[in-house]
Amino acid sequence: MASEKNTKAKLYSRYPLSSVLIYNGSTILHFLLGGIGIALGYSFSPWAGYTFGILYLVFSFVEMYVIMPLTVCPNCVYYRAKDWLCVSGLNILSKKIAKEGNLKDFPRRAEGLFCPNNLYLVSLIVPILAMIPALIVNFSVVLLIIFLGVICLLLFRFFIIFPKIACLHCRAKYECPQARAMGVRSR
Ligand code: SF4
Repeated sequence: MASEKNTKAKLYSRYPLSSVLIYNGSTILHFLLGGIGIALGYSFSPWAGYTFGILYLVFSFVEMYVIMPLTVCPNCVYYRAKDWLCVSGLNILSKKIAKEGNLKDFPRRAEGLFCPNNLYLVSLIVPILAMIPALIVNFSVVLLIIFLGVICLLLFRFFIIFPKIACLHCRAKYECPQARAMGVRSR
């Protein structure tokens, strides 16, 4: 583990409430807009729009708010420290529904094709990919606005939330593969 004294950014044991709200607000908005966009984009079929939209919503919320706290958070440093609050707040939920894991297993969140990290990325990107053909065959201004809104949320996540609000200040960043990918460990 790198020495904290070499880092410039403050590491948060408890993230500010504003960070937790921005993280979860943008996540929930991303999922909701994605689900609505899929449902609207495929509404020319009596069943496809609602079915795909609802399936996406169930997948994305379960991945983020069930699979993550059951499989990733128990291995995180935020799980075991009393009164700590991570940027997602999921360490609190995880303590209630999962047994403590092993810190050494935390990097495994990015191992394997169906690892939690990949499922998380899929939940963010699927609505964008699904709305492209829908825009071609079933164009509407509302669908275009939703599509652009989801793209903005994705860019906001990768260029603002991860590098400036979440991972930069995270006490798990020396173990987390995502922090390494974001290049925030030495900042
Ligand atoms: S470094 Fe980023 S992705 Fe990794 S646990 Fe911390 S906030 Fe989450």
